[in-house]
Amino acid sequence: MAHKRAAAPEADPYFPAHGDTRYRVHRYELAVDYRPASNRLRGTARIGAVAGGAALREFALDLADFRLQRVVVDGRPAHYVHRAGRLRIRPAKAVEAGAAFTVEVHYTGNPQPVTSQWGGLGWEELTDGALVASQPVGAPSWYPCNDRPADKATYQISVTAPSVYTVVVGGRLLSRTTRASSTTWVYEQAAPTSSYLVTVSIGRYEAVQLSGGGSVLAPRRPVPQTGYVPARLRGQFAVDFGRQTRMMDFFEDVFGAYPFDGYAVVVADEELDVPVEAQGVATFGTNHLGGQRRSERLVAHELAHQWFGNSLSIGDWRHIWLNEGFAKYAEWLWSEHTGGPTAASHAATAHARLARLPQDLTPGDPGRRLMFDDRLYQRGGLAVHALRRALGEGAFFRMLKGWTAVHRHGVVTTSALAAHAARYTAHPLDAVFDLWVHRSALPPAGELED
Ligand SMILES: [Zn+2]
Repeated sequence: MAHKRAAAPEADPYFPAHGDTRYRVHRYELAVDYRPASNRLRGTARIGAVAGGAALREFALDLADFRLQRVVVDGRPAHYVHRAGRLRIRPAKAVEAGAAFTVEVHYTGNPQPVTSQWGGLGWEELTDGALVASQPVGAPSWYPCNDRPADKATYQISVTAPSVYTVVVGGRLLSRTTRASSTTWVYEQAAPTSSYLVTVSIGRYEAVQLSGGGSVLAPRRPVPQTGYVPARLRGQFAVDFGRQTRMMDFFEDVFGAYPFDGYAVVVADEELDVPVEAQGVATFGTNHLGGQRRSERLVAHELAHQWFGNSLSIGDWRHIWLNEGFAKYAEWLWSEHTGGPTAASHAATAHARLARLPQDLTPGDPGRRLMFDDRLYQRGGLAVHALRRALGEGAFFRMLKGWTAVHRHGVVTTSALAAHAARYTAHPLDAVFDLWVHRSALPPAGELED
């Protein structure tokens, strides 16, 4: 058959060349051997998938420029064409509609970040180690995947690296085995995970347990929280992340139970423009430390993504404000909770700043070019605040907890939020969503007041 170039109808409008909607993946088993000195990666991916409503005579995975040794579907070698980040596979025998199938890909090469308007994405070689920060489309820089955020799967990830390095992946560490001078770390991520949220950090880190959790009045199971930090920065880390366990308790109060087994914070031994979230992990740079809690806003932002973005994943990238707006609002809630400026005051400041900037960004569909524009974050925070004003305190916080509970480990859209929020009020919210989410013009500040 001809290789159809046209994207499937429901392909991501911002990244139509990524992902394949004709099947979904439920399980990835990745085994990666990485040599930092030569930036050499050897990988094997075993992918468990299910065909959609039509038989699959061919399908695609996203994978950057690696040398392929073998592609096997259901145990039989498959034909494939690997070009421009797409691995198009034609199984020896078509997969029937609705049938489960497995794909095995063996590959080697020197991983490079995927180039994008936001700089390099994905696997990044560091001075001494490596990290992965894939949002939004960097995952194929290191493993073959169905690269769309709504196709969530469980993962087993095995990374072999020289024993001097610590390997952080997120999820539960199943085993750590040293042979000769290499160590293999096997992690299991049992919660459904979007491909862009899969991370690997390889570096010379010390593990620091953050203790705390619960309170004398309301004891509860504390969420295990671990920092992976260059040894010389342990002291600063203890200050900069010193209130994170308290923050976890507060967020569990307002957002509901933490959705994963544990939370790891990696401080890579490099400066990073911005910290980045992954499933059960956040990666910061040395520039986010300093021993004065100057980046605590970002500590809150990254932690909040574990609920908004990671547990609740967006159906496609048009809905990015559901991740960033709620993470921004979590910064404001933490400020309010700890005696800093209230969320209302942060909203007023954001509004004043936005009023001086071009108003060509629609939060509910910002377009690919503006999806990570700072205005998207601010407008998203304002939209959440407008919902709080419209619902009132009690209903807003019940709505918030309900949102993360109903869609835990699921996939969400703006219309799902609108339908959900409507259950918490007798008044229609259409105007709130219309003004704050679906229009580029900034509504008047008076709309935010009681
Ligand atoms: Zn964010």
